[in-house]
Amino acid sequence: RKENILISACLLGLYCRYDGKEIKLDGIESLMENYNLIPVCPEILGGLGTPRKPAERIGIKVINSLGEDVTAFFEKGAEETLKLAKLYKCRYAILKEKSPSCGYGAIYDGTFSGNLIKANGLTADLLAKSGIIVIGETQVSRLKNNLQYN
Ligand code: SF4
Repeated sequence: RKENILISACLLGLYCRYDGKEIKLDGIESLMENYNLIPVCPEILGGLGTPRKPAERIGIKVINSLGEDVTAFFEKGAEETLKLAKLYKCRYAILKEKSPSCGYGAIYDGTFSGNLIKANGLTADLLAKSGIIVIGETQVSRLKNNLQYN
């Protein structure tokens, strides 16, 4: 039986990004040969729609480009994503880098100017604090090299 791994839904090509654009991670097919990928989009799970205004984290809050406080949606999305991670017994999560939800290690600084700071998106933060290993999409080779699966 393949191991379940959580993955940002946008990396699978779902149109759930704030701008509604399609992105897709190269090599998804080979990942799917070895792992059971569980797609999640924390911002959709938190109650936001697509498309939506871009948002960035500022400290413990998330503010969109209109200046609206959307923190509650992001917190709800993080909690729902953690529930799914537990339900599917995921040890790992492949998450979209730089996102205010999914980014791990580096996210935009809250000024909407493209600057990055060392911090995590709300979902990546909660998953990591709950013991799940978060892997950015450019680091997926770590999975291929290090993971064991059933
Ligand atoms: Fe992708 Fe995460 Fe943004 Fe959803 S919240 S569109 S999964 S980066």
